[in-house]
Amino acid sequence: MLILRTPAEMRQWSEAIEQGVSVGFVPTMGALHEGHLHLLQTSKDENDLTVLSIFVNPSQFNNSSDFERYPRTFDTDVALAQGAGIDVIYSPAATAMYPDGFDTSIDPGSLALGMEGQFRPGHFQGVSTVVVKLLNTVQPSRLYLGQKDYQQLAILRHVIADLNIPVETIAVATVRHADGLAMSSRNVRLTVEDRKSASVIFSALSRAKAVFDQGERSAATLHREVMVVLDKVTSCKMEYVCIVDAENLQPVTHIEKGAVVCVAAFFGDVRLIDNVILDFVVP
Ligand code: AMP
Repeated sequence: MLILRTPAEMRQWSEAIEQGVSVGFVPTMGALHEGHLHLLQTSKDENDLTVLSIFVNPSQFNNSSDFERYPRTFDTDVALAQGAGIDVIYSPAATAMYPDGFDTSIDPGSLALGMEGQFRPGHFQGVSTVVVKLLNTVQPSRLYLGQKDYQQLAILRHVIADLNIPVETIAVATVRHADGLAMSSRNVRLTVEDRKSASVIFSALSRAKAVFDQGERSAATLHREVMVVLDKVTSCKMEYVCIVDAENLQPVTHIEKGAVVCVAAFFGDVRLIDNVILDFVVP
C-alpha cells in the first residue's frame, strides 16, 4: 500500500494507470470506522484499484474548535486500510492543498442553502472545493459517498454533473451500531451517557418511516412524530428536523414522491446528523 502526500505524487500515480483499469475513490477525514470500511469494501468489489483519501479539510469547518477537536487517528487508519487491502492512501498536508495564494471556491448553489448549509455557513463551499480538487488529482472512475451525509451526496452529484467531471458517483447505505446510531467519527467524543441517549435519533427517524409506511403523507404530522420521540431525551438538543424532497432538497408539505427526513442534534458539544429516506415502493 502506498501513502502519497502531495497532489503531484497523487497525480503522477493516477496518470500512470493504464486505460481500462478502474479506480474507486473514497474521500474521508480519517478516524476510520465500519461505515468507511463499508465504502472501501464496496469500492474494492467494483474496481481494480481503490484510493482512500484522509484529509481533515479546514475549509469545511465553520467552527475552529470543531476542527481542532476532530479525532485524528492516522496510524490506526493506515493499519485498517492495509487490512482492507487498499492500494493507496492519499493524505496531503493542508499546506499542500491550500498553498499561499490559494483563492478559489466552488459555490454549490441552492442545494446548499438549507439544513447543514444554514447551520454551518460555508461548509458546502469547503466540501465542494476540496472534493473537486481531490477528484482532479486522483482521477477515479467511481466516487463512493455515504448516504449518511445525504445533503452532501446530493450536492456533490450536482457539482459533478454541472462541472462535467468524468466520474460515476455511487451512494452507499448508512452503517449503524446495533442500537441504530449511525457510525460517525464524532461518536467517540460522546460521554457514556450521551452515547446511550444518541440512539434516540434513529428511533425518531424509524418512527417517521413507520408512520409514513402506514400511509401518512403530511410532513407536519411526520415532523411532530419525530419531535415526540426526540423530546423524550432531555440531553438531545435538536438543531433541525427537516423533511425535504429527495432530489431538490426543498421542504415538502405533502409527500408525493421520494422525500428524506434529515436531523441534526447536539449531545453535549457533539453534533450528530442522520436521515431516513421515505420512498415509494414501485409495484
Ligand atoms: P467523513 O470522514 O465523516 O467525512 O466521511 C467520509 C465518507 O464516509 C462520506 O462519504 C460519509 O458519508 C461516509 N460515511 C460516514 N459515516 C458513514 C456511515 N455510518 N455509513 C456509511 N457511510 C458513512
